[in-house]
Amino acid sequence: MSVTDDVVRANQQYAQDFKLGHLPIPPARNLAIVACMDARLPIEEALGLKTGDAHIIRNAGGIVTEDALRSLIISHYLLGTQDFIVINHTDCGMLKFNDSDLRSRLHAETGTAAVTPTAFHTFGNLEENVREQIQKLRAHPWTPKSVSIRGFIYDVKTGRLNEVAEKRAGAVSR
Ligand SMILES: [Zn+2]
Repeated sequence: MSVTDDVVRANQQYAQDFKLGHLPIPPARNLAIVACMDARLPIEEALGLKTGDAHIIRNAGGIVTEDALRSLIISHYLLGTQDFIVINHTDCGMLKFNDSDLRSRLHAETGTAAVTPTAFHTFGNLEENVREQIQKLRAHPWTPKSVSIRGFIYDVKTGRLNEVAEKRAGAVSR
């Protein structure tokens, strides 16, 4: 019995008294979230969200990749989301290795190189990483100016979400 078999069985239970079949496609709270895939990050629970409330786009690191951008653009223009949130978290696995080491390991284990993925998007500093994702979002020509974009770090030890302040322009003039 594999884990997959277990979850398929769990779903049969779940579907027995399913009551969410009426939900519309657009997220009820007009919110889209890009978050790390970490198994300890219970996005909906931690943010008081219910099924149908938000788009939750997850990948290793909570990175605004080309594919995350694709989803956010669809999320806003076709499904009406108005707030974008980026969520990283403490103790992220992406802080614990780097792209070139993983690439070498994969080459050694599989005996072959590969063209994709072109990057694993590892990072060395959580706050900087969140800021970088926000900047990528803001810099994209199709990101609507009207959308609120904020970034947070979820603390896996306390369950608390801490906002990452954007660096002000400071000495650099616009
Ligand atoms: Zn992570």
